[in-house]
Amino acid sequence: MITANNYFRDMFGHKMYKASISMDVTCPNRDGSKGTGGCIFCSEGGSGEFAACSSDPVDVQIRRAIGQVRSKAGVNAGYIAYFQNFTNTYCSPGYLEKKLQEASSCEGIEAVSIATRPDCLEPGILEVLERQAGRMPLFVELGLQTANDDTAKLINRCYETGEYVEAVASLKVIGANVITHIIFGLPGETRDMMMDTVRLCADAGSDGYKFTCLYVLADTPMARLFYDHKVELLGMEEYFDIVEAAIRILPENAVIHRFTGDGPKMSLIAPLWTANKRKVINYINRRFGL
Ligand code: SF4
Repeated sequence: MITANNYFRDMFGHKMYKASISMDVTCPNRDGSKGTGGCIFCSEGGSGEFAACSSDPVDVQIRRAIGQVRSKAGVNAGYIAYFQNFTNTYCSPGYLEKKLQEASSCEGIEAVSIATRPDCLEPGILEVLERQAGRMPLFVELGLQTANDDTAKLINRCYETGEYVEAVASLKVIGANVITHIIFGLPGETRDMMMDTVRLCADAGSDGYKFTCLYVLADTPMARLFYDHKVELLGMEEYFDIVEAAIRILPENAVIHRFTGDGPKMSLIAPLWTANKRKVINYINRRFGL
């Protein structure tokens, strides 16, 4: 297992920070083309509560984001333009190319990371991504969450797991580095099912991973399930036992970009241990020897 920090230091020679960018996009399971309402755990902000305002030009968003971390980052740091919320390839190839070019020409940007779904990578989009991968390192983050298609239906993901496998293969051909998002603790999932997801991603060839425990945000369909006692959430130790088991399955060169996520405090309903960021980080550092 390689941590993202170590991986980026090896690749770029210094620490890397993310500069979040918001584009004017949505998701096919929100706008009615495949479904409505989005994934049942996802907030109105499309999993990007910390992202910038989409109406601002990309360079303005990046300068603002870099300005916010520059004091702690210091001069010897680089930045990844991070297209974070919603489905950032759910747009025309021309629009995407324009935004990527704007981002990669900003001072300090040394890589691009783009969050999307496997079913939004049509040939025109892949061509744009291939050109971007030729300019600087390109990370494509795929929100898989689970390899189990029944759970996927329950969470209203609106694409089949097979599409993820095909997407990873296509992205690797164009030179992108693939990061997979996985949620542990989805309703009805046993530990074996979670490990099946990890195995499928490793077999598909995912390069990196972002894990998170399921957390419940206000005003989401998941919150209704939670209040109806249809969701059991993981405790901190229990969750990190699962992460440890997942890491044991992954190849040694797998990069762990995130050990767990944390929802926006204002709308977090449960589990409350995820809100104590300092305690969680200390625990991760101790447990995984970071
Ligand atoms: S695809 Fe991503 S951003 Fe869209 S609803 Fe699902 S989790 Fe949210």
